[in-house]
Amino acid sequence: MTLVHLSGFPRIGAKRELKTLLEAYWHGECDEAGLARQARELRQRHWLLQRGAGVDRVAVGDFSLYDHVLDNLRLLGALPRRFGFEASALSAAQYFELGRGNATQQAMAMKKWFDTNYHYLVPEWEADMHFHADASPLLEQWREAQALGIPAKPVLIGPLTLLWLGRSLEAGFDRLALLPALTSAYVELLGQLTAAGADWIQIDEPALVLDLPPDWVAAAGESWRALCASPARLMLASYFGPIDAHAGWINALPLAGLHLDLVRAPHQAAAFAANWPAGRVLSAGIIDGRNVWRADLDAVLAQVHALQSTFGTAPWLAPSCSLLHCPYDLAQEIDLAQDIKTWLAFSVQKLNELKTIQRGLQLGAAAIENELAGSRYACETRRRSLRIHLPRVQAQVSALAADAPRRDSPYAQRAALQRERLALPLLPTTTIGSFPQTAAIRETRAAYRQGALGEAAYQEAMRREIASCIARQEAIGLDVLVHGEAERNDMVEYFAAALTGFAHTRLGWVQSYGSRCVKPPILFGDVERPAPITVEWARYAQSLTARPVKGMLTGPVTLLQWSFVRDDLPRAQVCRQIALALNAEILDLEAAGIAVIQVDEPALREGLPLRGDERPAYLDWAVAAFRLACRALADTTQVHTHMCYAEFSDILPAIAALDADVITIETSRSDMQLLEAFGNFSYPNEIGPGVYDIHSPRPPTAAAMRSLLDRARSVIPVERLWVNPDCGLKTRTWAEVEAALRTMVGVVRDVRREWRPA
Ligand code: GLN
Ligand code: ZN
Repeated sequence: MTLVHLSGFPRIGAKRELKTLLEAYWHGECDEAGLARQARELRQRHWLLQRGAGVDRVAVGDFSLYDHVLDNLRLLGALPRRFGFEASALSAAQYFELGRGNATQQAMAMKKWFDTNYHYLVPEWEADMHFHADASPLLEQWREAQALGIPAKPVLIGPLTLLWLGRSLEAGFDRLALLPALTSAYVELLGQLTAAGADWIQIDEPALVLDLPPDWVAAAGESWRALCASPARLMLASYFGPIDAHAGWINALPLAGLHLDLVRAPHQAAAFAANWPAGRVLSAGIIDGRNVWRADLDAVLAQVHALQSTFGTAPWLAPSCSLLHCPYDLAQEIDLAQDIKTWLAFSVQKLNELKTIQRGLQLGAAAIENELAGSRYACETRRRSLRIHLPRVQAQVSALAADAPRRDSPYAQRAALQRERLALPLLPTTTIGSFPQTAAIRETRAAYRQGALGEAAYQEAMRREIASCIARQEAIGLDVLVHGEAERNDMVEYFAAALTGFAHTRLGWVQSYGSRCVKPPILFGDVERPAPITVEWARYAQSLTARPVKGMLTGPVTLLQWSFVRDDLPRAQVCRQIALALNAEILDLEAAGIAVIQVDEPALREGLPLRGDERPAYLDWAVAAFRLACRALADTTQVHTHMCYAEFSDILPAIAALDADVITIETSRSDMQLLEAFGNFSYPNEIGPGVYDIHSPRPPTAAAMRSLLDRARSVIPVERLWVNPDCGLKTRTWAEVEAALRTMVGVVRDVRREWRPA
């Protein structure tokens, strides 16, 4: 029989209730009992909603107060030992300290969960760790679902994935050595869950979609053979890519079920069908858990019928992955244009799609004729919509030359011309773009948005902010100034709102980590820039000072990466459209006399595909899009880019290929390790390694900056060094910012005297 089941539902809630709850608890407005009660209510509301929508098996274990990777570590007694906490007696306060740090211990590190924007807490592995399985926290939730009479299925992260995603604390220690002991703890955990009545248990192993070393693959097979000895009906689940390379050993396991992501990797089913064991359940992930588009139900029904005939039985039906990565409910979007709304499906709508396919499979297509007609209508209007398809944009993109554009002259010649034009000192100082977003600024923007403040008054208020920001930077003594970004709520949303092809939601939140959520714009159509966006602000800022003011833009790859992107065009092509629109803006900035233009690409690294064989193609088109955005600039215009908070050392050739005249990067957190990678690679252009961490609550000291600069100078020639903070300053106060930047400028003044080339 075909069932509809889920790997997870958005735990944040329809109106970010979890965020509100967590903040209330952290601020002491709610005690531990209140936290537990309200969390339970939220989870139960989500189960009841899923049950009401006809889901046959809800997930238990997808809800988390902070992070489900942390929750899994807790079940296994595998918390970082440096905190000294007892997993089986963990208080709520201690639980949050693991994620947020305490007086003596830094928080666990955070990393992006595969290629999503969700950040998990990184497990910390040590050679002499002992595990101890205690399913109680999960069993509590399991019993809640039982009490409500809701059929459920515990979901765990698998041992391979948990181990892979963590880091070995001791140098030279190979964490793979822990797998047998960890597996035993899982076996124990499965025993506790089955004893409490769990029949099906899902274990997620998304690490299988990565390029794993052969010893990891061999060890994975062994670990899973041990897990399968458990009396539970185990479903191995993977998502975010194909795992057909592992079809041989996975088919040979005595598994009760296998879940495959058939949205990202529909063709992998064939590899498993060949030797499919009789009686095993295939869970077909056929509704996209990573995006917001309504499914083409005709196509999905056909796909499911094909699976049924290949595998001999009807598959279970599921979203491709947990709906954690998808917004909650489209019905809340009362401001979205009606036609756009008919093209979308958020989590609640995806449950209905699954249910419809289930009915179609059981009762025949005629039973779902209305739904099929609705889906056809949506596909058809989307295919033809004049809101989506702008022939002018498509013509421009197809007229582009195959090769990425180049600047007129190579870097060395440009640098000489720019030096002459900008007349900058050795070690020029600058900032990354944003200055403090004060309460007054946020109130002004809100009043303008709500119509309480008119256009003229808003412009006037923003000009005052810009003028004050420029005056402060001059007083501090910075060399290349910025206008401060007071008009921007967010570096993506601001540009998305000014370009065609992007829509905005009221409540389309997706959890990023803990209580933090993001609300990505929806990139549904062809992108064009109807009118200049930043030009007047930049022109005004430049009119106030003789020093160069940087024009400031978010780059094409970052705009793409931090949006929900249309699925009817290749991403590369969508990115080219954005790049063309930005190019118009960049050329207008140049024409307005702006001599330095920064194109931020903090998301360049995270767009990198999970598998190595797909990476070169991505880097090619991403680099080409950046260069397209900067095409036709004069040699005398200096292009900057900025990147932060990611592992850049493995994409240095691509970063160099951007051919920005200057890159400012975050390095102080990693103690300049990244800079050394730039040095080893012989990065050819100018570079501004961040000399202090803008997140740190402690004021940076001159000595610390000086020592970072010394290290920078040992790997990058001093004529090619800039000095700047790690990232934008919008989250800091003016007092903090002025103190830190004065220290920075002071250090640079001393160093200039010492280091002046003979
Ligand atoms: N220009 C942006 C700022 O200063 C860059 C932000 C970022 O790197 N994420 O805020
Ligand atoms: Zn940054």
